[in-house]
This record gives sequence, C-alpha cells and structure tokens, in this order.
Amino acid sequence: MGHDATRAGTAGRPSPYQNQMLKSERAPVDECRMEMAFAGVFGAVIGSFINVIADRLPSRRSLIRPASHCESCSAPIRPYDNVPVLSWLLLRGRCRRCDAAIPARYPIVEGLTAALCVAVVLLKSPAVQVALGLALVLLLMPLALIDLKHRILPNSITLPGCILAIAIGLALDPAGEPTRLIAGLAAGGALLIAALAYPGGMGMGDVKLALMLGLFLGAAVIPAIAIALLLGTVVGVAIMARRGVAAGRKTAVPFGPFLAAGAAIAIFAGQPLIHLYTTNFLH
Ligand SMILES: [Zn+2]
Repeated sequence: MGHDATRAGTAGRPSPYQNQMLKSERAPVDECRMEMAFAGVFGAVIGSFINVIADRLPSRRSLIRPASHCESCSAPIRPYDNVPVLSWLLLRGRCRRCDAAIPARYPIVEGLTAALCVAVVLLKSPAVQVALGLALVLLLMPLALIDLKHRILPNSITLPGCILAIAIGLALDPAGEPTRLIAGLAAGGALLIAALAYPGGMGMGDVKLALMLGLFLGAAVIPAIAIALLLGTVVGVAIMARRGVAAGRKTAVPFGPFLAAGAAIAIFAGQPLIHLYTTNFLH
C-alpha cells in the first residue's frame, strides 16, 4: 500500500518520467538478487564438491569416480538425495537405504561455502575483488578441512591457488599486482622465518598458504595473519586450560584452519582493519 502511494505521487498516476525512474532504480536491485541467488546455488554446489575433495584428495583417490555413495552400505546417492543442504535436512542426516548417519560436516560445508560466496558478491567490488574473493573462499574451505583431519596443506591446492591469484590479478587489475606480489612474498617470508625458528610449530604448508593469501589479499594479509595468530593463541590457551599446560603443549593443533579463518575474515574486514590501525596507532 505504502509502495503504491509513493509510486502514484501527488498527481494520482505516475508520469512517464517517474515511471522510467522507478524502473531504473529497481533494476539493479533485481539484478543484485539474481546475482546473490546464483552465488548461493553456485557456492552450495561447489561446497558439495569441496566435501568430495576433502574426503578423497589426501589419499589420492579420483575426484570423479566412483560417484558419491554411502560410506556404510556403498549405495550410490541418487541425484534427488544429493541436493546440497536440503537433502541432508530432508533425510534427517541418515542414509535412505541403511539409515547410517551422514556427518553434519557435509551440509555445514555446503551452507558455509554458499553463505561466503553470497557475502563476497554482495559486499565486494570492483570485479577484481569479487573474483579474488570467490576464488579464495573456494580454496580455503578444502585446505582448512584437509589440514584439520590430515595435518597437511596439499601443494596440489596451494600452488595452483598461487597461480590463479596472479592470473586473476593480472587480468582484472594489473596495476595492483606488484602490491599483491610483495604481500605474498612478505607473508610467506615471515612464516618461513617462524617455521625455521620453531621447527615443529608451523610447516612448509603454512608458508605456501601464507604466500597464497598475500597474492589474494594484498595488504589485507597482515590482519589475516594477525587474526590467525590471535585465534590460534585463544584455542591453544583453551586446550591448556582443559588438559593442563604440559599436555596442551604436546597437543599439536594445525595452523592452516586458523590461517583460513583469518583470511576469510580479512576478505571482508581486512581493509577497514588496516584503516582502523593506521588512523589510531600511526600518529
Ligand atoms: Zn547407506
């Protein structure tokens, strides 16, 4: 009702000029909704494939064959039971044939990937930042999952990731590429020094991931690593509080998931955090 009233204005009927203005104002909103819906579906479908990558890549199994099947009864998963997030909810997290539990990790990864893709499309601009943000999200998810379970950050993800970052940067924003290259080398170099100084803490996988993060994030890699260290410290202290200091020190926690979380936050908050720091502390 209120909407109609504003459309009609005082003249009762909208003039052709008003009509045109309303249309041109509304078009970007519809376009934006379409883009977000597409990003959500795209993210959920890729998220489903990221689950397959996380399950199979560490043991060098084929990512394509065999097709998705139940881990318990080996029944192939039918297309209508393979819809991201929705199928898991409809089946209440159980295999249709043998009733075995399907880990909640599957819908969580699908939903989180979809949400992050929508957020990148909604909040990032220009095109180079959207492309870098989407590619980074899709690389971070399998890296974090694999490092959590297997304590490795496979070169087969980080190295193509570095090349992809440089390719997107050169294609869409060549002028910004030197900054991203310097950020990558500085971040990789800093973690290399840390890895050499404290062997057993960080690994070479973390060094290559930091290089990749710099190539994607540019200067925002600084808050990404700062957040990762902060989260890692908080979790480390929490483990020591629960299990005692000696046992906590022995509990090796992989650093990759923290780097991934820091990077995911820095995609959105990196530039504001840098601005906050430079305006408040560098005077
Ligand atoms: Zn089954």
